[in-house]
Amino acid sequence: MALVVAKFGGSSVASPERIRLVANKLIALKNAGNDVVAVVSAMGKTTDELISLSETLTKNPPAREMDRLMSTGEQVSMSLMAMELEERGYRSMSFTGEQAGLYTDSRHLSAKITDIKPVRLMEAVLQGFIPVVAGFQGIDPKGDITTLGRGGSDATAVAIAYGIHADECAIYSDVDGIYTADPRVAPRAHKLDAINYDDMLELSSSGAGVLQARAVEFARKYNVVIHARSTFSDDPGTLVEGADAIMMEQAEVTGIAHDASEVKVTLRGVSDKTGVAAKLFSALAGNNVNVDMIIQNVSTDGRADITFTCPKADLPAAREVVENMLQKVSAHDYFVDESIAKVSIVGTGMKSSPGVAAKAFKALADNNVNIQMISTSPIRLSVVVSKDQMALAVRCLHTAFGLDSDSDYEEKMLSAEELAAKSKKGR
Ligand code: ASP
Ligand code: MG
Repeated sequence: MALVVAKFGGSSVASPERIRLVANKLIALKNAGNDVVAVVSAMGKTTDELISLSETLTKNPPAREMDRLMSTGEQVSMSLMAMELEERGYRSMSFTGEQAGLYTDSRHLSAKITDIKPVRLMEAVLQGFIPVVAGFQGIDPKGDITTLGRGGSDATAVAIAYGIHADECAIYSDVDGIYTADPRVAPRAHKLDAINYDDMLELSSSGAGVLQARAVEFARKYNVVIHARSTFSDDPGTLVEGADAIMMEQAEVTGIAHDASEVKVTLRGVSDKTGVAAKLFSALAGNNVNVDMIIQNVSTDGRADITFTCPKADLPAAREVVENMLQKVSAHDYFVDESIAKVSIVGTGMKSSPGVAAKAFKALADNNVNIQMISTSPIRLSVVVSKDQMALAVRCLHTAFGLDSDSDYEEKMLSAEELAAKSKKGR
């Protein structure tokens, strides 16, 4: 007998048939003697469709209205789920973010959770209901609806699990756990039984689409153990928990992530003077461009090239700034490369293993993968390569760091376009 939060992603509730399947899962949990709180995402691609719908009217929708619009997706799935449970003879009630007591700040589109007061949820649980909570949304101090960033239903699940002192926070999706790399890209990838918060956070931030980075951050802060597992099987998935809980020799690299959602912008012949970078990057920040990697190549004639990467979605804003800045930093010109991908090796074990970078570069060189940019943190090494070489880079690093599974694997080569589509952020 446990108190379980069970969160289901968009593909798990994409159709009435799937909603029935999820209801089976919730009912099985309940029949096994557990108290259950469900959290649901919007059905299938609903959130993307709502965004497209707004784009038919405006390029610049007020963030407050976007949040109101997007929050409706989860309200559809929560009501349908509650109806299905009632139909099957189980008492259920749906709750919006506000009704679940999920309070946030007022930063529309990426609000931070500030408090959780799940009073009504707990009342419902005590009365034997299976409450179904709309993921992804909360309420700000003014009473306006906010959303928690794309993939934010994960954050809802973790926050509710913390708020009700749940014994388990299970995050169900169409993948059966956390893998050493995306198996669609690296067929020899294997599922991890457990991963620590820091590694998971770094993998999520580096493009692994499995758990929302902010949800992992929240879980780490409040020590909520996440069980990432499949909606479509009963196999155990991967536990995301503190490093102390994981009883095994720490490998130097835990996993490899790829991200084909960024673009590279290069300003050529920028005058090599103090304050130029400050000017450029302040202007980019001011226009909400989320800059990731940066390099500067100094040339001899007092000029330098500055290259940075940013999400493809921020490219129009970046162009605006760069075109404006060309004269101010007396740059010759600029160009954009949209066919890049970032590949990251991640592992807390890297901190105590010298030579990780050398090993990575050698593996890439042996496979003729050209490195365009490099960035590091104590537990991550990222390289930018051409999109065509992304899968090769992931695979050879996976092999070099001893992550390949022994079991049979399916060697299938996806085209760069297929991979790019698959590695798009969001689920
Ligand atoms: N429906 C939202 C999204 O697609 C939230 C989520 O799925 O977790 O981003
Ligand atoms: Mg989703």
